[in-house]
Amino acid sequence: MPVQHQDTQQSRSMNQLEELIRMRIEQNGPMSISEFMALALGHPKYGYYMSRDPFGRGGDFTTAPEISQMFGEMIGAWLADSWERIGAPDKFILLECGPGRGTLMADILRATRGVSGFHAALDLHLLEMSPVLREKQKEALTGYEPVWHDTLETVPDDAPLFVIGNEFLDALPVQHLISRQGQWMERKVGFDGDHFVFVATDAAPDLTRQVPQGLARPRDGEIYECSPISQSVMQQLCERIVQQKGVMLFIDYGYVEPACGDTLQAVKDHAYLDLLKDIGEADITAHVDFSALAEIAREHRLNGFITTQGDFLRRLGIDMRAQTLLQKASPVQQKDIMGALNRLTEKDRMGELFKVWAATSESIALAGGA
Ligand code: SAH
Repeated sequence: MPVQHQDTQQSRSMNQLEELIRMRIEQNGPMSISEFMALALGHPKYGYYMSRDPFGRGGDFTTAPEISQMFGEMIGAWLADSWERIGAPDKFILLECGPGRGTLMADILRATRGVSGFHAALDLHLLEMSPVLREKQKEALTGYEPVWHDTLETVPDDAPLFVIGNEFLDALPVQHLISRQGQWMERKVGFDGDHFVFVATDAAPDLTRQVPQGLARPRDGEIYECSPISQSVMQQLCERIVQQKGVMLFIDYGYVEPACGDTLQAVKDHAYLDLLKDIGEADITAHVDFSALAEIAREHRLNGFITTQGDFLRRLGIDMRAQTLLQKASPVQQKDIMGALNRLTEKDRMGELFKVWAATSESIALAGGA
């Protein structure tokens, strides 16, 4: 029968993860975008991060620590400075969320080797779901003994907690609300018999409550994005930081005022891709709603700042560091150093879109804010 024939054709061109998602949708109805994103990135067998190293020129995208060692050196300086400002505790937990290839942590550890007492005090922990990337991290951190975690619950709570994460929050699943005739509906992923499609379904009250009160009346079709999962991660981190003392620093592309808009994007081979195609083969991210996360930190009476990556790196002295590196560099290396410096700090590159958010339980000023 023609219909069955079409079905088989579609099945054959689908990868295994797409088959699995199609089956779930057929069984349970449309799938929330957060479940879709969690499967696309983290399905134990077919998830994007679970089976590959996606970074660098030969990969799908590049991140700040992969662009230049200067990035990790500045974060290292910030961590050592924060540790001193907090009273140089003789033991602290250093936790990196989503360490990728381990490059950032390797640069941090190299840059802080000369800080008296810092290495002796630090206990290294990594939150990472991907077995492939855990292997890479192990290689990058040879000589150190990191402990890996699947969730925050197992991270020790017997010393001050220092948390960092670069492009970690943008990988956490989001949900979408879509405005239809003055009402918020949940935007989900459905299957029309041939393709995956977005559909609008009734939204649970818990989800519609996510829309901030003061937000302007949405146009029909407007999307509001939220990430209850990021909020719950932040809730846990804030509780820990209050209880254990400590600081956190997250760097990501995102926005600082509540806003409508669909920022979900899929990237493969350094190019944008249809979100609903090649599922599990492209990186999927969403811009981070720092306003929602900062609100959670405020509720926990943490204090800190949010600034742009460009300003943060300059305040920590990246220009001076570049000058020092330039002195010993060949002409080719000099070009690379200047290229990296511009890419990390210039307004029209990563300097403004990327934000740095820092918070602490202590009544201290943290370096790098205004
Ligand atoms: N910080 C690195 C990598 C960023 S990519 C860099 O800047 O280069 C996102 C990282 O977060 C990857 O290591 C990915 O495997 C990890 N990750 C994504 N979602 C996660 C989750 N829910 N739990 C743990 N790790 C996660």
